[in-house]
Parts: sequence; C-alpha cells; structure tokens
Amino acid sequence: MTDTASDPAAATGTSAANYRVLARKYRPARFTDLIGQEAVVRTLTNAITSGRIAQGYMLTGVRGVGKTTTARLIARALNCIGPDGNGGATPDPCGVCVHCTGIAEDRHVDVLEMDAASRTGIDDIRELLDGVRYRPTSARYKVYIVDEVHMLSEKAFNALLKTLEEPPAHVKFIFATTEIRKVPVTVLSRCQRFDLRRIESDDLIRLFSDVAKREAAKVEPGAMALIARAADGSARDGLSILDQAISQAAGAGDQTVTEQAVRDMLGLADRARVFDLFDAVMTGDAKSALGMLHDQYAAGANPVVVVQDLLELVHWLTRVKISPETARDPGLAETERTRGVTMAKALSVAVLSRSWQMLLKGLSEARSAPLPLQAVEMILIRLAYASDLPTPGDALKTLQSGGVVPAAPKVTPATTPSPAPRAMAVGSSGYSPTPQSRPIAEPVATQTTEAVALKSFADVALLFERKREIKLAALLKRSVRLVRFEDGRIEFNPDKGAPADLAGLVGKHLTQWTGQRWVVSVVNAAGEKTLYEQDEERAKADPLIKSLLEAFPRAKIDRISRAEE
Ligand SMILES: [Zn+2]
Repeated sequence: MTDTASDPAAATGTSAANYRVLARKYRPARFTDLIGQEAVVRTLTNAITSGRIAQGYMLTGVRGVGKTTTARLIARALNCIGPDGNGGATPDPCGVCVHCTGIAEDRHVDVLEMDAASRTGIDDIRELLDGVRYRPTSARYKVYIVDEVHMLSEKAFNALLKTLEEPPAHVKFIFATTEIRKVPVTVLSRCQRFDLRRIESDDLIRLFSDVAKREAAKVEPGAMALIARAADGSARDGLSILDQAISQAAGAGDQTVTEQAVRDMLGLADRARVFDLFDAVMTGDAKSALGMLHDQYAAGANPVVVVQDLLELVHWLTRVKISPETARDPGLAETERTRGVTMAKALSVAVLSRSWQMLLKGLSEARSAPLPLQAVEMILIRLAYASDLPTPGDALKTLQSGGVVPAAPKVTPATTPSPAPRAMAVGSSGYSPTPQSRPIAEPVATQTTEAVALKSFADVALLFERKREIKLAALLKRSVRLVRFEDGRIEFNPDKGAPADLAGLVGKHLTQWTGQRWVVSVVNAAGEKTLYEQDEERAKADPLIKSLLEAFPRAKIDRISRAEE
C-alpha cells in the first residue's frame, strides 16, 4: 500500500496550481522538528554546541524516516551564519540566512548531493570528489551528502576512502543508507553513526494531526489512525497518504476525511469482515466461511489478500494474548479492539499458533495455485475442520480429568488424537465464540532460545531440530547410538543405513552454530539406545500416554516433543 501511497504524482493529481506536496512543505526545519528521533537529536545538538564536529556522519534507518532531511539539517547547522551574518555553527539553524535558504532549496554550491543508488561507479564518485581540495565558495564547510551509500561499487568505495582518510578540514561528509551492513567497516569507522528509528504510531498521529490542522483539513481520528498504520514508521509515506486523502475528499466535495474513505483508498478490507471470517472458521462453520469468502471475492477482494488479512489478524490476536497492551494499538478502531480482546481470551495460544502455521502454508499454496480462490476455499475448510481437533495438550487434560476421548476413526494421523465430535469440540479446540464458555486451559508456550546449552546428546538433536535440519535431527535420534559425549566431542555408532558423512556433517554444523570446535567421530562400540528408543521407553512408562495409547489403539508414538504446538 505504501507503493501507491508514496507516489506524490498520485497525490497532486487533483490539486491546485500552487499546491505543494505536504511531505515537502512540512519538511523539518530544525532538529527539534525531527519527530521520534530524540536520541539522535540530543547527540547531534551536543556535538555541534561543543564544537566536536565529526568529519563524517553515517545516517541509517528504514526508508522514509528522515535520513536526507537530517543530512540537510546537519549541512545547515554547520553552515548557518545567523540572521545577522555573524553566527557560528549552531544546532538551531536560523532558516533565513543565505546558507540556510540555499540548502533548503537544494541550490547551495557548497552542499553537494549524490544518490549512490543511481550513480554507483568510480567515475561518479571521482566527479563528486573532484573539488574536495578547493575551499568552499561561500560557506564554512563543503558538505558532501551521499544517499544510499551502500550501493557504491567497490572501486568507488576505495576512492571515497582515500578522501575520508585525509580529509581537508573544510570538508564534511554525510552518508545515508538503508543497509548499514553493506557499508564497508573502513568507511563506518571514520564516521559518527546515527540510527534513525522507525517513527512510533503515536508520534505520527500527532504530526499528521498538526499538519491537517495547519492545512485546515478535518480528518476523522479513525482515518488518522489508519494512515499512521499504513505509514509504517515513515513520516514521508504517511504525509503522502494524508495528502492524497485530503485532496480526494476535497475533490469529492467532502468536508471531512472519513475512516471509510481512507480504508477504500488504501484498499484495506473492512476489518470487521476479517473478524467475521475468522470467527466462522474457528467455530468450524465452513459453510458460512465460504459464503463470506465469495462475498469478498465478488466485491473485488483478492483471495490471497484474504489469507494475508487472516494471518495479520491471527498474529495480532496472539500478541494481544501475550501482552494485552497490544490491543491499545492506536491503529485500531474501538470495535475491533473489543472484539479482538474477546477473541484472544477465547482462543488458546496452541490453537492460534496452529492456525498461523496453516495459514502461512496456505498462503504459499494460494500464491502458486492456478485458481487462488479454490486454494483459499480449501484453506478455510481445512482451518474449520482443524478447529474441531483438540490440541494434544487438551486431549491429555481430557483424559486426565477422566473424560472420554472418542476412539480414533479411520483416517486419523497417528500423532493427533481423533477429531472430536462437535459437542466437545468447543472445549477441546479452545474456542467458542461466546466468552462465557468454560475457561480454556492454556498450554504453556515454550520459548525456543537461540543459545542452546549443549549438555547432552539429546540437546544436540534438539538443536538440529530447531535449526530446521530435520533430516539430520531424525538421523541423530533414530540412527545413531551414543558412545561418548562431552563438550566439543561426540562419538557414536551409526546404523548401517546412516549416511557415511553423517559425523562430518554434524560436526560442521555444530562448530558453525556454537562458534566452538566440535569433533564428531564414528566408533565401533555398542553404545546407548537411540534417543528415539529412550523416548519411547519413557513415554510408555508415563501413565497418561499409556491411557492415550489405550484410548487410541491404532495410534503410534511418532514424535515426542517437550513443547506441544
Ligand atoms: Zn542560517
């Protein structure tokens, strides 16, 4: 949505002759105007006030956070001479002297800008740096602003580095980049770095409201919130959308920019419909869900976007579940908020994360399907069907409390206990549309952390699983017998079927992941039982699993993991 929204041409289409794009018109004129960048502003202000002016500045942050704006502000701050022409470098440039105005209008001879995205070569940078050794024409400093500096070719970087290593005192460099990791460290080390933050929704709403007021435009709070959300941290993008919304409303003869108008303009599906659809699916009402999908399709919605909307909703509900303050997101209307909170309460984390996985898988299917609508229908049916399945955690609890889990029907996958009949589905799937249904037992969501202490061979197998080396993980669990395990050293005896390079592969991965050398070798000794055999033994001894196995005589233990879904 930002693509079309940030196109200023689209915004100016219907406007008057003297119309200026809002983002340009309200470009910050002093550091204190840079919203949401307090830390950067403080450091810059201190540096300039105390005369500790760096040779180079590196500004980094996502697109639209104000990198070039900040660069120009620094250029002004360094060169401002004040209204009386006697001032020095100042964190608060006057905005009226020849230098301030010249820079603001992009026509100052001593402030040279280059966009490295379009001029990446050695000749471009040579041309730019050609005048480095000459003193500035009128300003205090010659300022070189290089935008998207990471795009420069290697040769161009080297040329730049030569200047950076021994820069004349009258030269300052300001670099901007969206990808700081692509900037060579030799360049980085010669610059003072500033990380511009994505601007918070609240700050954006305040800015947009202020601009709207100065433009004498009325904008509904809901519309403002939607614009801030679509802006995704970028003041410039948000102002472009606001622009477009205001001129659209004016063009239609409307007094006020309404929430609905912005929604239509951004092509956002009505959130209420997304909620309705998810509600239907989670209550297992596939028929209604398909009806809603077709309504949306008939109204012009792209089926793939419907899945994306559902994914976004599931993600948000899960976040609300984990930290309820998320529900206070100002990008949301009050009705959505209340409805979301109710839903989040009724759904368990296990069910939400299962839905997320199914939708995510479905999304890629829908994208590659010849008929996306059909694919999305299948996804909804699958989800509605799965809403009837108890999560393994719930099935265990049902057994524990003496409840009866019905025997497995013909097509049950071995791991998942039976699709329960509707009567018990409400409790088991963890969802009922009515909040007063019995409280849902909540399986604990186990966080997987990156850093894993490898205290045992089982830890090693688990690490492979987490790193998505599923095949190797399975081999480690089923096909090798551990002979010796200590920190940095593993000896095992593989089955005949195990690949010959297994030990080498395991060692290589471990060394890479842990940053520590691991030696894995094959030895010809009996060794322990496989991890899988050990798990199975433990599981069979567990009374709960025992009763599960009795309830589902056809079920087999396939996978035993600590965190259920
Ligand atoms: Zn000035």
